[in-house]
Amino acid sequence: MKKVFLGMAALAFLFASCEQDPNQEITSEQQEAQVDMSDFYLYTDSSDEKRSDNAAEKCYSMKNLNRLLNENKGLHEKMYNIEKNTRSILAKSENAKGGKPGGGGGGTEPPVTDNLGVVNIPVVVHVVYSNAQQNISDQQINSQIDVLNADFRASNNDVNSIPSEFANDVADSEISFTLAAVNRYSNSTSQWGTNDAVKAQYPPVNPSTTLNIWVANIGGGILGYAQFPGGPASTDGVVISPQYFGTTGYVSAPFDRGRTATHEVGHYLNLRHIWGDGRCRQDDFVADTPDSDGPNYGCPSYPTVNCRSTDMTMNYMDYTNDACMYMFSEGQKARMRTIFMDGGPRTGFVN
Ligand SMILES: [Zn+2]
Repeated sequence: MKKVFLGMAALAFLFASCEQDPNQEITSEQQEAQVDMSDFYLYTDSSDEKRSDNAAEKCYSMKNLNRLLNENKGLHEKMYNIEKNTRSILAKSENAKGGKPGGGGGGTEPPVTDNLGVVNIPVVVHVVYSNAQQNISDQQINSQIDVLNADFRASNNDVNSIPSEFANDVADSEISFTLAAVNRYSNSTSQWGTNDAVKAQYPPVNPSTTLNIWVANIGGGILGYAQFPGGPASTDGVVISPQYFGTTGYVSAPFDRGRTATHEVGHYLNLRHIWGDGRCRQDDFVADTPDSDGPNYGCPSYPTVNCRSTDMTMNYMDYTNDACMYMFSEGQKARMRTIFMDGGPRTGFVN
């Protein structure tokens, strides 16, 4: 699929070239215009979230995005431009390495090079509880920060479980997390739902320089949801139900290893679900994550084949159990890091 789009981009480029003065040098702006956005999408069909009726919907991020797009007229254009900037950075990186022009929707391999070093993200955790159990301990919160640091630096102790087919794809994302503050709020609301009511009640702290995480009971079987880059500052961050946060204390198997936060922070850093929230032909905009037609659940056996390729079921952006997801890919790393670079939506963390 990516090759088709690349081919279309190359054709479009050739066509455009014919109309130009052949002696005229191609400017960097024209090079940016080669970025192929033809496969970009924002709205997704909620029926694609499940492969079967008895499969649980774990993450509400894409439906939350649908809602935000409806409520914010300029959001579609803003997110389109964020994507275009990401693809432009990746395409330039590819060109610098002698690759083909364009870059299309597939991201790039090898990953973008940058001089950002390890990007540290300060985290404020808002614990909103209606009973003592939900008022999770500092120890539980710290266990979650530890998981985020391990997973985003590929120092998680299950990283060696990756099948050899994907062993070369695993990435140290060079993103770290530091707990900046914990705010605790008692509130009689027992289920907050997915409409950001908890954020309205307890607004984010410095969202341009801080990751805000609300640990509050969502209800409806939803583990968590995130807001993608570009959304309103007043609701920027991640919401996770307390029993799926961290690895100790009030946690509930099989989502008791802190991977819900890893997954949701992945969205917060602009990663899509591994199956692209559509069928085989809809992509997650990352080249080294194989196409899939839907989420995987539980702990799938290897290899699980869909769309004529092996699903990367052990990727954090699938829906598998915490114990069965243990990697981000190099392409996902490249995609995440562009949002901290020039023109990106989260440069506040590095400037
Ligand atoms: Zn998700």
